[in-house]
Amino acid sequence: MTRHFNFCAGPAALPQAVLERARDELLDYQGRGLSVMEMSHRSPEFTAIAEQAEADLRELLAIPDDYRVLFLQGGASMQFAMLPYNLLGRGGTPNYLYTGIWGKKAISEAQHLAGAHVAASSEGNGLTAVPRPEEIQLSSDAAYLHYTANETIGGLEFDYIPEVNAPLVCDMSSSILSGPLDVSKFGVLYAGAQKNIGPAGLTLVIVRDDLLERARPETPTMFNYKVMAENGSMFNTPATYAWYLAGLVFQWLKQDIGGLAAMNAINDRKAAKLYAAIDASDFYSNPIAPHNRSRMNVPFVLADDALNAPFLAEADAAGLLNLKGHRSVGGMRASLYNAVPEAGVDALIDFMTDFEHRRG
Ligand code: PMP
Repeated sequence: MTRHFNFCAGPAALPQAVLERARDELLDYQGRGLSVMEMSHRSPEFTAIAEQAEADLRELLAIPDDYRVLFLQGGASMQFAMLPYNLLGRGGTPNYLYTGIWGKKAISEAQHLAGAHVAASSEGNGLTAVPRPEEIQLSSDAAYLHYTANETIGGLEFDYIPEVNAPLVCDMSSSILSGPLDVSKFGVLYAGAQKNIGPAGLTLVIVRDDLLERARPETPTMFNYKVMAENGSMFNTPATYAWYLAGLVFQWLKQDIGGLAAMNAINDRKAAKLYAAIDASDFYSNPIAPHNRSRMNVPFVLADDALNAPFLAEADAAGLLNLKGHRSVGGMRASLYNAVPEAGVDALIDFMTDFEHRRG
């Protein structure tokens, strides 16, 4: 069996230790004679799995007691729509920071429902730097401010948490759990699972209790945070197996990595090495302002587009998978999520250096 290094932006690499444990427990979960996939979500076994996953996540992120943790479906894209339904029951204008493709999609969902005010934008600098705090201009009736902590396609990451006079909402799909986080600064945090949490199919929402009272009356039941919170995310059948795997990832973060401060240090090192290699070369380049360079998603272009196809083919043959940039921007992108080991980044840098010498 060979496991290659997987730089996919999502669904992304999972820790090998997690996959091994899932394999060992697949056919017979802890002597019960069935797999987690085949259990009732209301069984004592699954209830224990679900509760343990939440407890471990709460510990990792030090989530305060007045926040609910929801394990939903529909992806981060469904949150783009759920948010305005849940937070606009008292009127007001949804406010957004625009820093890239995902933020734009979030804005467009709010516009369908209620119109949206763009409180600051990176359009002027070609999406290469996030707005500075003093550039953020909320509308006078802001119901919330939404931003995308890390734009997965552009490779643009906030280097600060905005401080505003409205509930702060953050799409943290591609950076959650990459390091410690002060959850108390947020009203709502959400993330699709398929990067740093677990497999696709699960969506994590962390919401402050007082915001559960703000849903618009026409909010569909399945969209309603309060309904989901009151039912322990089991108003209907949840994504049980993805929830279980997320729980294994949380345990890996706690036990194998040693928590989010340790994860943070590893992620700092991985990203710093790769950006240093890109900057040291005239052949590779990355356009993002250094203080906003994403630690999780590193886009880069080659000096000659004609070399893209050979680069990707040779990388793949060398066991370095999924380096193709998003179809909307082209070039390359190396996603360095938690489960991508430092050895994978070292192997990528060696390959890039060698490719440049041979073909650059
Ligand atoms: N937001 C961000 C920052 C993302 O990276 C993605 C997916 N790549 C999404 C939202 C959409 O997520 P999903 O596919 O789970 O709907």
